[in-house]
Amino acid sequence: MRKTALERFNDSYIVDQKTGCWIWQKTKDAPGYGIFYFENHFIHAHRWIYQHLNGEMPKNIFACHKCDNPPCVNPEHIFAGTHADNMRDMKKKGRECSPERKSAIMKEKAARGDKNGSRTHIEKIKRGPDHHSHLRPELVQKGEEASGAKLTEEKAIQIILLYKTGIFLQRELAERFGLKDRSISDITTGKTWRHLNEFRK
Ligand SMILES: [Zn+2]
Repeated sequence: MRKTALERFNDSYIVDQKTGCWIWQKTKDAPGYGIFYFENHFIHAHRWIYQHLNGEMPKNIFACHKCDNPPCVNPEHIFAGTHADNMRDMKKKGRECSPERKSAIMKEKAARGDKNGSRTHIEKIKRGPDHHSHLRPELVQKGEEASGAKLTEEKAIQIILLYKTGIFLQRELAERFGLKDRSISDITTGKTWRHLNEFRK
């Protein structure tokens, strides 16, 4: 059965037990923000979950990090900021986070004994830091793509973007997505899924 967006989201991060940050394990952009594919477009993963829980925000409202940790998608670490908030932060750090808030949130967290962010509305808390996905990120997200799984456009895009990062060998992507090496090279070179060329640039 096809996974819901929230299920896909929940399969995409691991919890850092020390900070309570939920660290995105899938595709990230250059500054390190998680990228989530939703209803045929890409959206920052932290913005997606924030909106999923709190309602859609206008484009000029930014999803900012209290924890100064771009790959974090813990909705408790996200706040809605104005353009001015964002620019102030960007100027300081070159990204949409607020570093001076870090100690405040840590103190607040310690005070209420919230170590792992499990107090939120997400149904399921993922594996701890000792999970193999920490050491072997290529093992994350296997099950769904086990052999015989249908290659969807979404997965093809993921493969293209992951290969572009230069972190993964084609063989590793083949293993991760349950495909043949040849299928991966066909996807990344454009022999198949040609219409996804904009992602190959
Ligand atoms: Zn965080």
